[in-house]
Amino acid sequence: MIAIEGGLPTRSKVLSYGRQMIEEDDVAAVVSCLQSDYLTTGPYVESFEEAITMYTGAKYAVAFCNGTAALHGACHAAGISAGDEVITTPITFAASANCVLYCGGTPVFADIKLSDWLIDPDRIEERITGRTKAIIPVDFMGEMPDMDHIMSIARNHGLVVIEDGAHSIGSSYKGRRAGSIADMTMFSFHPVKTITTGEGGVITTNSEEHYRKLVSFRSHSITRNPEHLLERHHASWYYEQQDLGYNFRMTDIQAALGCSQIKKMERFKLRRTEMVVAYNSAFKNLRGIILPEPRMSSEACRHLYVIRVDTDQLTVDRDAVFRALQAENIGVNLHYVPVYKHPYYQRNGYADTICPNAEAYYSSAITLPLHVGMSSTDLGDVITAVKKVISYYWK
Ligand SMILES: *Cc1c(COP(=O)(O)O)cnc(C)c1O
Repeated sequence: MIAIEGGLPTRSKVLSYGRQMIEEDDVAAVVSCLQSDYLTTGPYVESFEEAITMYTGAKYAVAFCNGTAALHGACHAAGISAGDEVITTPITFAASANCVLYCGGTPVFADIKLSDWLIDPDRIEERITGRTKAIIPVDFMGEMPDMDHIMSIARNHGLVVIEDGAHSIGSSYKGRRAGSIADMTMFSFHPVKTITTGEGGVITTNSEEHYRKLVSFRSHSITRNPEHLLERHHASWYYEQQDLGYNFRMTDIQAALGCSQIKKMERFKLRRTEMVVAYNSAFKNLRGIILPEPRMSSEACRHLYVIRVDTDQLTVDRDAVFRALQAENIGVNLHYVPVYKHPYYQRNGYADTICPNAEAYYSSAITLPLHVGMSSTDLGDVITAVKKVISYYWK
């Protein structure tokens, strides 16, 4: 008997869907920063940025206080302003579209493919107008969309590509790491992401021009570098604000944690991949469950594990399956409400059902727990609970 019908739950304690992994060396790194001369933007930020460029293969990395601020910086560096349109996917965290609004631009949503749940390059092309300035593809779950296709669309139309890689540190596409392909790529280090800085984000780029704009934007657009001054001035104390910037700096405390965490990427990636393989083999032939098609061109470091329930095979809808899994003490979640459906977007004139594939996905998706702190028992509990609940509701 399933727990929601009065049976015993699969486990006694709730297993959360995502969680940071903090070990003793992470604590030591943060403590050593606290005891040093710099608490904010100092040597740890520089080291963390360097570690990111080494890891991703990008030329430059610019750290920000969080991923959303980093996306805002990238939109600024791309020159997004009033009247510009930027194309993104609706199946993402709202920040992927909000960053366009921060700069006065208009987000435009291109539908996903139902096979892999990632933005469909053909739908991107259909949405391009004379006002389109950029594309923000999202590496949803850590899976990279067809970047060659997206980059070639962008080159043909003179668009900037800002990849939202919040989920994809450690992923690669045709042998190239996320962070080294798009014009700019954002990684987030929020605690549920693959590695964390508490809050934090970074933009990687190979463009010196974008790099300079990003560095300036995150610190009030104030410079004292004599080579970059707009006004001629000879006093050594002189500094000037050249544009409207923000305080979006990462602290050295955050970066110290990041420096320690990034060293663990290979171990974390291996463990995540093992868990994904175990889930895939448990669910691939389970009637009532739909998995995304495997992507041959990319090797993902998965951040999320999402299933779709096939309601044609079940007596109930997704919400009932979701509640039943919660009753088994499995911390399920939903990624994501299509961005255009949020009340704010609805109030600002977006139609309720612009993207039919996103709607179909949204009505059937469930995120299962996936994080490196999960034990084999935890993983087994999720598999047991899903099989138990799905088979209970089989038609
Ligand atoms: C987490 C996330 C962000 C924002 O990152 P923060 O660091 O939380 O600001 C943006 N896009 C996606 C897809 C995310 O998952």
